Amino acid sequence: MAKCDEGYICEVCGEAVDEIVDSDLYLRFVIGQVPESELTKSPERHILCNPVQAQFIVHDDFEPVIVDGPFDKRLLDEEHVRQQEDLITRGWLRIREVTGSGLPVSEYPLKPKVDMKKLIAERRQAKPEPESEANHRGTETQS
Ligand SMILES: [Zn+2]
Repeated sequence: MAKCDEGYICEVCGEAVDEIVDSDLYLRFVIGQVPESELTKSPERHILCNPVQAQFIVHDDFEPVIVDGPFDKRLLDEEHVRQQEDLITRGWLRIREVTGSGLPVSEYPLKPKVDMKKLIAERRQAKPEPESEANHRGTETQS
């Protein structure tokens, strides 16, 4: 037990961050903002103690966070907000999913979604596939 057994203390409110699902650090880890090597070194925070990020979690099970001030998402660029909401909400769902799953920590981060889309788009361009619906409409035209 080399580590302090008080666990990780939130640098904002001073309380322990007991659950990974409450951890802003793990949230930033799964969305790729924090490398695994930094997990044990970086200051810990509760998700709710970092409202500027928490405001982008949009989910029925998450009480919306409102930020007062210049970082209020309602004042930010719409496209940027949309991207942040997508990413951070997926990250939040991801930490709920991996908690207690037995997955190694290195498997926690979200898989890059954008690259996958790009890959599919590139494949489609290279080899266009007819839509199945179109096939139905143009019945009996194929030899
Ligand atoms: Zn806190």
